[in-house]
Amino acid sequence: MAYVQAVIQAGAVPFLLPICTDPSLWRQMLAGIDALLLSGGGDPDAVWYGQEAEPAQGYVQPARDRMEIYLARHALRYKMPVLGICRGAQLLAIAAGGTLWQDIKKVQRVQHDQRAPRMYAIHQVYVEPGSLLYRLTGKKRFRVNSLHHQAIRTPGAGGQVTAVAKDGIIEAVEFPRHPFALGVQWHPEWLCRHDRNAAVLFAALRQAASSPTAPTG
Ligand code: MN
Repeated sequence: MAYVQAVIQAGAVPFLLPICTDPSLWRQMLAGIDALLLSGGGDPDAVWYGQEAEPAQGYVQPARDRMEIYLARHALRYKMPVLGICRGAQLLAIAAGGTLWQDIKKVQRVQHDQRAPRMYAIHQVYVEPGSLLYRLTGKKRFRVNSLHHQAIRTPGAGGQVTAVAKDGIIEAVEFPRHPFALGVQWHPEWLCRHDRNAAVLFAALRQAASSPTAPTG
């Protein structure tokens, strides 16, 4: 519901796409929407980025992986506006041929699995000047919530890292040759009622959906 309310708050109409196994249904769903929001969720199976699952990989939903990676690839290839959140950001990277850290517990130096309410922004992100994220927020750094144990390791072909945490963990990726393809590792849907840096992401997705050729920002 937090995603639904964030989309409504941005003035757009939310549609939930149920997990299906038939690719022709995926294509018909894509024909019926103007933009894609890839939500948070469990760990994508490491096989999608060429690795064996390590012990720390969480429970995998194979049909969801298959469908969402198809949707992500479609959005990247056909320049459909796409906002990836947490797992969704990771799927964008995977769709572009990138890779993940299967478990950041041993490398993190910042609390990415926050012990605080999910609408509380626990850590800072440092934003690449000139990036879409920078143009949208106007901020070189701001605070975000953090509810992840995996992270993007390489952003894939055409992908750029545009925000990191203080420990270097990747917090945002973009695809500059795409009019609007942004993935964020945090959860703006829990922040956007009170936090402009979060609300602006959904507003920009909506704007990109209504002007398919013009980048926003
Ligand atoms: Mn984080």
